[in-house]
Amino acid sequence: MSRRRLLLAALLLGSIAAFFAFDLGQYFRIEFFQSRQSAIEEFRRASPLATAAIFFAIYVAVTGSSVPGAAILSVAVGAIFGLLWGTLIVSFASSIGATLAFLSSRFLFREAVRSRFGDRLRAIDAGLAKEGAFYLFALRLAPVFPFVLVNLLMGLTPIRTRTFYWVSQVGMLPATIIYVNAGTQLATIKSISGILSPALIGSLVLLGLFPLVAKHLVESAKARRRLAKWPKPEKFERNLVVIGAGSAGLVAAYIAAAVKAKVTLIEKDRMGGDCLYTGCVPSKALIKSARLLAQAKRAREFGFKAMQVEFDFADVMERVQRVVRTVEPHDSAERYTRLGVECLQGEAKITSPWTVEVKTESRVRTLTTRAIVIAAGARPFVPPIPGLAETGCLTSDTVWDLRALPPRLIVLGGGPVGCELAQCFARFGSRVTQVEMLPRLLVREDPEVSELVARQFREERIDVRAEHKAVGVLREGGEKLLVCEHGGKEVRIPFDELLCALGRVANTAGYGLEELGIGLTPARTVETDEFLQTLYPNIYACGDVAGPYQFTHTASHQAWYAAVNALFGVVKRFRADYSVIPWATFTEPEVARVGLNETEAAEKNIAYDVTSYALEDLDRAIADGETQGVVKVLTVPGRDRILGATIVGEHAADLIVEFITAMKHGIGLNKILGTIHIYPTLAEANKYAAGNWKRAHAPQELLKWAEKFHAWRRG
Ligand SMILES: Cc1cc2nc3c(=O)[nH]c(=O)nc-3n(C[C@H](O)[C@H](O)[C@H](O)COP(=O)(O)OP(=O)(O)OC[C@H]3O[C@@H](n4cnc5c(N)ncnc54)[C@H](O)[C@@H]3O)c2cc1C
Repeated sequence: MSRRRLLLAALLLGSIAAFFAFDLGQYFRIEFFQSRQSAIEEFRRASPLATAAIFFAIYVAVTGSSVPGAAILSVAVGAIFGLLWGTLIVSFASSIGATLAFLSSRFLFREAVRSRFGDRLRAIDAGLAKEGAFYLFALRLAPVFPFVLVNLLMGLTPIRTRTFYWVSQVGMLPATIIYVNAGTQLATIKSISGILSPALIGSLVLLGLFPLVAKHLVESAKARRRLAKWPKPEKFERNLVVIGAGSAGLVAAYIAAAVKAKVTLIEKDRMGGDCLYTGCVPSKALIKSARLLAQAKRAREFGFKAMQVEFDFADVMERVQRVVRTVEPHDSAERYTRLGVECLQGEAKITSPWTVEVKTESRVRTLTTRAIVIAAGARPFVPPIPGLAETGCLTSDTVWDLRALPPRLIVLGGGPVGCELAQCFARFGSRVTQVEMLPRLLVREDPEVSELVARQFREERIDVRAEHKAVGVLREGGEKLLVCEHGGKEVRIPFDELLCALGRVANTAGYGLEELGIGLTPARTVETDEFLQTLYPNIYACGDVAGPYQFTHTASHQAWYAAVNALFGVVKRFRADYSVIPWATFTEPEVARVGLNETEAAEKNIAYDVTSYALEDLDRAIADGETQGVVKVLTVPGRDRILGATIVGEHAADLIVEFITAMKHGIGLNKILGTIHIYPTLAEANKYAAGNWKRAHAPQELLKWAEKFHAWRRG
């Protein structure tokens, strides 16, 4: 704790201690004021301003230092100054005092609370940032919540000081008037608790709930008004229409059918979406072939003289398509029809909150529906780099059509998709240059993780160009060149093919969002609330089109919420839970993560302990010749609570599941350590990481006593 904090804490604790030690409470009793009323009255008549200033200062000091006495002071001020002046004095003094207590709490505790629970508080903070004033107003109006507690707790939230002040002043006004008014009848008051009868408290609680209820009613009215603009069908043919049959849409439709809703799934292209045709499935199939080739090149390491692998790149790409075709039936219209989903092939357009138009080759149909789930996905982002449109480029949509291996390939982008594909093509024999504007590959991961991947890439002769900004594409003498800016200089890189892997943009145009006025976020995804609901209470969005994550598993996770909220929202809605989100990059070494890494923890100012276990010590990794990698776990300092884990190495994406489960269900490293892991497996790395944590957090004092005990036992 800083000196200034210590000083303030000492001051506050000192005043609270003095209050009780010197029995100052005796001066804050009704009888005390009743016995001194005439003397105080006399002093007020002689010096009204001085009396007001003294009471004001005492009031601020009492409330600001969070000692009891505010209610009795309000009564006393009412007795001395009457209703009008009394209310003015108490209202300002109590608001200033409350704000001082609020600021003290913020100064003393907020940083510590943030650093300890920062990630968990994110959802609460977001709610308070949006609706904090309403909650505070309700708490202030209802005097069942102690004044002091509200000040101190609010100090820990992100609510602005100015908002806190004025909401407190307005919210406390009814109770202030009641107390001050009671003071005008001081002689008749028997006890302070009698001032607020249960009926009066009940009325104030109702008054406190009023703004929340009113807000809810206003929002419902606004939504109804928005809907009222559109003609509502008398009957609906369907409960749900889902637009897009990718990872998100398929799951949303499946859930609707499983709960016996009448659901229609509309897909304009191929059922299965990106994941099946241009994303996860083909990329992982390609990675497998590339990996086999890379392993064959390591033949000597495994005791072989040589392993010659002859291959035709076109055959590899055909195998990728075979894999896609094998998985295809899982996402097919036939399977989903069997599951109870009506599958329509065509382009969907939302024409009103209740109707979706489907354009097929032969006709246009209009479907009526109670609710709509938008799952229209995303597409590769191609930057407006001068010359790029003319030379053309590959993207994750088109790269799968290649049948000839490009001799020189530039991969633009150092994110997961760029890294996975760069390594694959390098392994097949392309001379790959990977261009990244930022200082390192996989910039969301910790620097040491990026370095492990970059080191492997360098070994595989991938030319990684970090801090290179692509600014143009030229054709010179029949050669295609990428022009980059690097350290103030121009760098030209020749290529045969250029693969753009610079992220993906949500599909938000051309299917009715503009006409309905459904807005977009700054990241250009469909704007939804925490329930995945758009501007319209019966239209939801999920998957890549909604963000913020762009993975198949997050798309299907969101799809559950979107479908359930769309179908049962009138009864109960569920907030999408993003508390434990894992992901992986399937390079070699594989990189998997859940929760925080060091970079994010530092950015968010969250305190952490870090424990690592290097795979080079692991028996199974040594036997497999896969010793490159690490298990890294972040925990709350001094506590057995996991904040996040990163695993780099063989099968990292499978191994991380133990930490995902642990985080999801609040299991700590002690429990992982106490779980039997099969020998010899890579999964043992998790247990050894937990062991390292345990050793670093061993109770040293207790161990000293144990040492003494053993010495004594030896005699
Ligand atoms: C190369 C690559 C590798 C990847 N690897 C992984 C991985 O390993 N793991 C992982 O979790 N994620 C991976 N992803 C990401 C993953 O593919 C996506 O996050 C996921 O596919 C998103 O699913 P979605 O349903 O939101 O969108 P999509 O799969 O894009 O589905 C949207 C569907 O909506 C349809 N559609 C759009 N508009 C309309 C309309 N008006 N009418 C009718 N239909 C419409 C589209 O045709 C499309 O089929 C990868 C992505 C890429 C590009």
